[in-house]
Amino acid sequence: MVENIVIIGAGHAGGAAAISLRELGFSGSIRVIGDEAEPPYERPTLSKEFLSGADASPVYLANEDRWSELKVTLTLGVSAQAIDRDARRVTLSDGSQVSYDRLVLATGGRARRLDAPDYPRIHHLRTIEDARTLAAAARPGARAVIVGGGVIGLETASTLVGLGLSATVLEAGERLLGRNTPADAAAWIAEAHARIGVEIHLGRSLKTVTERPGGLTVGLDDGTTLDADLMVVGIGIIPCVELAEAAGLPTAAGVLVDADYRSLGDPDVFAIGDLALRVFGDAPAPRRMETWAHAQTSARAAALAILGQPGELEPTPWFWTAQCGHMLQIAGDPSVADSVVARGDGVRLYLRAGTLVGAACLDQPRDFGTARRLIGKALTPETAADPRADLRKAAA
Ligand SMILES: Cc1cc2nc3c(=O)[nH]c(=O)nc-3n(C[C@H](O)[C@H](O)[C@H](O)COP(=O)(O)OP(=O)(O)OC[C@H]3O[C@@H](n4cnc5c(N)ncnc54)[C@H](O)[C@@H]3O)c2cc1C
Repeated sequence: MVENIVIIGAGHAGGAAAISLRELGFSGSIRVIGDEAEPPYERPTLSKEFLSGADASPVYLANEDRWSELKVTLTLGVSAQAIDRDARRVTLSDGSQVSYDRLVLATGGRARRLDAPDYPRIHHLRTIEDARTLAAAARPGARAVIVGGGVIGLETASTLVGLGLSATVLEAGERLLGRNTPADAAAWIAEAHARIGVEIHLGRSLKTVTERPGGLTVGLDDGTTLDADLMVVGIGIIPCVELAEAAGLPTAAGVLVDADYRSLGDPDVFAIGDLALRVFGDAPAPRRMETWAHAQTSARAAALAILGQPGELEPTPWFWTAQCGHMLQIAGDPSVADSVVARGDGVRLYLRAGTLVGAACLDQPRDFGTARRLIGKALTPETAADPRADLRKAAA
């Protein structure tokens, strides 16, 4: 009998799991434990509207009234320190203990740091606090060096330029967005950054950073030095696996879970959101996904499994990024494609053996919506390439 559910991590996935459990009819106790002072909020705005000042209110998953209507207890500003799986008990940093019948781990990840001194002019962007600190330092005319040409680094560069700073991006790889975006779509973003004046150094990494009066001196691996007023480090996250690891649960670069987000080592423990390293039936390797959509869908899937309700058809994975006035949306897995088809401006469809496996769209939300729903269906390259052909009719 499940009467008592504890969720560790009051981020997007943790908050969404609590809401899903209630929406699915669970009437027992739900407690969400979070080490940030804020109630659960969505992070995407932190590098965009929130940082730019265009919308300074955080995007909370629910307001205070809604949380109390849902009868969800939020225990904030407190971290979970240890899990005793035999006693089904969690010890918190304030010394208290909470018992559970089912435990959901939603501790996400922390920003990866440079091996450099903790200078106040070096920023990261993961939490509201990080965004507030960076916004306060982002004065017009200042020079920003951004380490990392991934989504967070590039969104931050774009927003800082909008605030009147100059931005230089250092990317160690041979192209931007190498981790999750196909090369042709990344080229759209590179062009957009060139148009707003962002200076991009590809194949270059940071060698040294030192503080001097009034700024930072940044040394690159080719001997170049740059002067900066501030630096933003956007080199990915480290999943917060320590609690799970100490509790003896199977972990690697995440907490290993099955298709229902249930820990491989304990049927009463689940892991969701950025933390979950999911093992799929026939997939070659477990996968971790760091997207808004996955926080949402993994939370619901785990809630269904906890309550013993049938699983739902899984939506195609997707994400978006907004930068330089453009919206790039990616669905499916373009990396497994054997061919790519351009469908007019700003739409690329990725096929493998005649099946649509991925889509990338720049400022084409309608085409994106259609393509996303068709992933996994058969499509000929001729139809895919013809903007006049109705994709929905063409896909078998
Ligand atoms: C700046 C930024 C912009 C983004 N933009 C986009 C975007 O445009 N599109 C997109 O699809 N995705 C975007 N994302 C990714 C998306 O926000 C994440 O995938 C999502 O937030 C993951 O949610 P989560 O709940 O798994 O983890 P998190 O959001 O990291 O939440 C985990 C929470 O658990 C807390 N915690 C950790 N350990 C403990 C502990 N021991 N005890 C208690 N609490 C603990 C953490 O402090 C944190 O509050 C963005 C992320 C960032 C940071």
